[in-house]
Amino acid sequence: METKYQRVILKLSGEALAGSKGFGIDPATVQTISQELREVHQLGIEVAIVVGGGNIWRGSIGSEMGMERAQADYMGMLATVMNALALQDSLENLEVPSRVQTSIEMRAVAEPYIRRRAIRHLQKGRVVIFAGGTGNPYFTTDTTAALRAAEIDADVILMAKNNVDGVYSADPKTDIEATKYESLTHLDVISKGLKVMDATASSLSMDNDIPLVVFNLNEPGNIKRVVLGENIGTTVGNQES
Ligand code: UDP
Repeated sequence: METKYQRVILKLSGEALAGSKGFGIDPATVQTISQELREVHQLGIEVAIVVGGGNIWRGSIGSEMGMERAQADYMGMLATVMNALALQDSLENLEVPSRVQTSIEMRAVAEPYIRRRAIRHLQKGRVVIFAGGTGNPYFTTDTTAALRAAEIDADVILMAKNNVDGVYSADPKTDIEATKYESLTHLDVISKGLKVMDATASSLSMDNDIPLVVFNLNEPGNIKRVVLGENIGTTVGNQES
């Protein structure tokens, strides 16, 4: 089957793993995502995943409760590792080969992040899960997705959203005038303050010419549709498509 992309980075927020509970890890939801990933993997596409941690902990919450921001952010980075291990477990159940690489070394549970090794895994048909964010406080896993995409020369970042099918001019849940964009530039996203990814991640994507597709993860089969080049969601790049 003809696919549009050869090497993709899927950004999964922590929330995507929480299911309807909205908190923690829902094994059934993780399994559903893994089944979709298996289909994409079977197309021969190289798949890397950056997982978030917001379903367990966000640094900003700790900081609002009076914790030191950097300390709270390290807790957030550890949360992403838990999600990565859950995802790896369910991929393994489906016999999809995978490796977790962490930006902060914890060799007993996963490999440390080594760019060349990550690329090698992808070439060998292993799904690579990047955990631990960038390894630095004050950043996000969106920025991690942009950074890793640049490092491993991914063709696209697939920004999986929960129950939103693209980028809208306003919040479609509260504003009936909100319209969906088919395509946008990174500059539009930054200047209009659209909630696609944070500004650091957007500018990194812009500077390194990395396109994104923002799409609804909750519609079954969507990851496959995106990689096959079906026009779903909103495409963001340096030129409008
Ligand atoms: N985090 C961080 N540096 C990074 C990536 C993440 O400090 O490079 C921390 C930060 O506290 C963040 C938490 O990890 O709130 C979870 O990541 P994120 O909010 O990006 O997860 P998501 O919203 O995608 O679930």
